[in-house]
Amino acid sequence: MTKYSAFKVFLEGLGGQQGWAPAWRSPQPKKRYDVVIIGGGGHGLATAYYLAKVHGVRNVAVLERGWLGGGNTGRNTTVIRSNYYYPASARLYDFSLKLYEGLSRELNYNVMFSQRGMVMVAHSRHDLEGAQRWVGAMQLNGVDAEMISADEVKRRLPVLDDSPGARYPIWGGFMQKRAGTARHDAVAWGYARAADALGVDIIQNCEVRGFLKNQTGRVTGVQTNLGVIETDKVGMAVAGHSSLMAQLAGFELPVTSYALQAFVSEPLKPVIDTVMLSLATGLYISQSDKGGLVFGGALDHYASYAQRGNSPTIRQVAGALADQMPSLGRVRLARHWAGIVDVVQDSSPILGETPTPGVYINCGWGTGGFKAIPAGGYLLAHHLATGRAHDIAAPFGLNRFFTGALIDEAAASGIAH
Ligand SMILES: Cc1cc2nc3c(=O)[nH]c(=O)nc-3n(C[C@H](O)[C@H](O)[C@H](O)COP(=O)(O)OP(=O)(O)OC[C@H]3O[C@@H](n4cnc5c(N)ncnc54)[C@H](O)[C@@H]3O)c2cc1C
Repeated sequence: MTKYSAFKVFLEGLGGQQGWAPAWRSPQPKKRYDVVIIGGGGHGLATAYYLAKVHGVRNVAVLERGWLGGGNTGRNTTVIRSNYYYPASARLYDFSLKLYEGLSRELNYNVMFSQRGMVMVAHSRHDLEGAQRWVGAMQLNGVDAEMISADEVKRRLPVLDDSPGARYPIWGGFMQKRAGTARHDAVAWGYARAADALGVDIIQNCEVRGFLKNQTGRVTGVQTNLGVIETDKVGMAVAGHSSLMAQLAGFELPVTSYALQAFVSEPLKPVIDTVMLSLATGLYISQSDKGGLVFGGALDHYASYAQRGNSPTIRQVAGALADQMPSLGRVRLARHWAGIVDVVQDSSPILGETPTPGVYINCGWGTGGFKAIPAGGYLLAHHLATGRAHDIAAPFGLNRFFTGALIDEAAASGIAH
């Protein structure tokens, strides 16, 4: 693998950019792999990378029905944070944040992780009480968080309306300084390049259409549009299509799929240098390096696999933006799209074994799995390689829906994650 460096960029500049090799190969699938990963999004690619890197399992294929990173990984608004309420979630998401902190170096690929902080804004006494409870929980869990005054919120976000008649008055808020954003494509590409360099085959335009099993019900391979690929271990990381994939594998998941929409404005000069989320409207926003305002809000209100936007959500989210930041009310939208996210009743992911022996799963991240890509991949790789759940992943097994040990983050914090 070519090592990327400032010196290499300089050298290539002198040589007419002729020396760059493709970042990954496009191999034909082999007859058999030790592990097959379904889904070439961030979680699938990270799983393949950690399998090869940490566990030395290199005879691995990642099967992606479209193009690499073309699912939610390439459609999300890139917020990375670990401000969760329950200890199990805090451990999981802070583990991920720590992996992000070293990721560009680990992968030798600039994922543009920018720890610009995230401000959660309270607009009422009730919001503030909820925020205090939330910050208390985070601090007890050893995650950085601090309450900030109304004046501090206004200083950090002068673009917020704080006029006497403001519809959403500012009462204060809280902040996680280590939170931020990263370049979504770069996370997928970085993992893909590093996994490929360790021998992983990444096969695009390869759709899994069925599972092969032996008499005991154990998986022996997958049926794809490119033919049968044999394996006795499958990792599924297909986000919004997890319940469909589970049906093919012969079990059911407590996952409902919804469209989640995102918006980017025309480029502006810098107006927001942090990430903001409003506890009243669910609006969240940051500004990209190119100047576009990147923002979003809640899920669509009905379950769907239709990967497109609709005007009620545009009105709701853009309306919240115009209400809270009236000076931006006339900014034009440049792009708008949706991804299909995998929502679980208790707003927490599902990691680990499934009722089909040999099939392991990573799903249920819903609206918040970009931040979890390094951890999701690391933990699924651990389970695939060792046959045991990692301590951090253990509370998130599918069996919690039978034991009742649910981890309802949305109920605890009042926002959907
Ligand atoms: C609009 C929007 C905004 C979001 N904002 C944030 C945010 O700010 N922060 C955050 O942390 N998270 C956010 N998320 C959530 C986050 O994007 C996802 O949780 C995360 O990207 C999931 O990654 P993944 O690898 O599991 O899934 P994906 O990236 O969706 O990858 C799954 C892949 O599986 C492939 N696949 C499906 N079926 C098959 C098949 N039969 N055979 C082969 N391949 C198949 C798909 O083509 C896809 O590429 C957002 C999501 C959306 C839609």
